[in-house]
Amino acid sequence: MMNLTILGATGSIGVSTLDVVARYPDRYKVVALSGHTRVELLAEQCHKFNPAYAVVGSATDAQRLTHLLSTRRVNTQVLYGTEALAHIASLPEVDAVMAAIVGAAGLMPTLAAVSAGKRVLLANKEALVMAGDLFMAEVRKSGACLLPIDSEHNAIFQSMPAGYAGNLSRAGVSRILLTASGGPFRDTAIEALSSVTPEQAVAHPKWTMGRKISVDSSTMMNKGLEVIEAHWLFNASANHIEVVIHPQSVIHSLVEYVDGSVLAQLGNPDMRTPIAHALAWPQRIDSGVERLDLFAIGQLTFERPDLARFPCLGLAYQALRAGGNAPAVLNAANEVAVSAFLAGDLPFLKIAAVIAETLAAVPCSEVATIDAVMTADDQGRIAATRALAAYAQ
Ligand code: NAD
Ligand code: MG
Repeated sequence: MMNLTILGATGSIGVSTLDVVARYPDRYKVVALSGHTRVELLAEQCHKFNPAYAVVGSATDAQRLTHLLSTRRVNTQVLYGTEALAHIASLPEVDAVMAAIVGAAGLMPTLAAVSAGKRVLLANKEALVMAGDLFMAEVRKSGACLLPIDSEHNAIFQSMPAGYAGNLSRAGVSRILLTASGGPFRDTAIEALSSVTPEQAVAHPKWTMGRKISVDSSTMMNKGLEVIEAHWLFNASANHIEVVIHPQSVIHSLVEYVDGSVLAQLGNPDMRTPIAHALAWPQRIDSGVERLDLFAIGQLTFERPDLARFPCLGLAYQALRAGGNAPAVLNAANEVAVSAFLAGDLPFLKIAAVIAETLAAVPCSEVATIDAVMTADDQGRIAATRALAAYAQ
């Protein structure tokens, strides 16, 4: 029996995780769940999975949840706040933690799971982007088992030699090919992008996801964050990671070897596959995902990304090459710009402008401690908020 904490249980990844878990009541037990504001859904999940703990964001939501649970006679203990998230991520009785909070808010609880040496199922890419060096050092120190949930990184993990120890050349790997769908605006005329709405941006052609990552996919910042994520997970330099647009989203990424072999993982675009892979690894379990029908798909196509159309991708490579605080600043600026865009306060094309100006405004520095990462995050948010003011619509 594997005891689980699911951080971000009420989100897209959290719901897919519980869908897989529900298929194996003899194999997985839910010990703790977290949600931020969707209290009704969290109450329903507690009713169904009967966890020992549930964590929400505020005292008011904790009261609401406690009330909903008492009417349903559910015995879950309700907690709230960041420390409570770190607490449920590091409980001694917990074996594995799904890290599926979106954005910088996921960093501290995910790190708590890593420090406690858990099996960490990492969906929260922003945590690794912000604090990659410290995060990976903590993985090595604690002996945590880090398994990627992001479909591309899960595909790379599956296509790497078993026991890959972080040295590409020793493993005979020449390149990592990170696939991208190109999002909803791959073919849209660039002139038309100036007037796209949040609803158009979140309508992803292949994946159903939370709103922030959906906007990131439409700007291709998602792929930029994933390049940085791949750098830390596989110890690959920017020059060893190439982005390939593959609109069908069937090949989830590829690993090229020096002998000319290219290994890939394919599947329907459904996050339950990487989730089931990481839950059961090194075994395999049925995820509930439909079989891949190659005859129905017919064709797989590939394109080079256009950095003029997707400047965010170039900015992410720039931040990765700069190192130090730059990825944390990039991430903070992106979070500020995306939430302003979603609120209708920033035109789509100005998301990249806000990020570029923020990167230029915050001086480079090393990030040797988590406090330094949090400072970089703060500085990025302040500079981005200032840059926003010039573009407010
Ligand atoms: P989502 O918006 O659907 O869900 C986010 C979850 O985080 C919710 O449970 C929410 O309650 C919680 N949350 C939000 N703000 C919080 C805060 N301040 N404090 C604590 N909890 C908070 O997002 P999602 O699409 O499920 O994505 C989650 C993470 O997984 C992101 O980092 C995303 O990049 C990554 N990811 C998602 C997908 C996908 O298909 N959805 C694929 C790959 C990676
Ligand atoms: Mg992905």
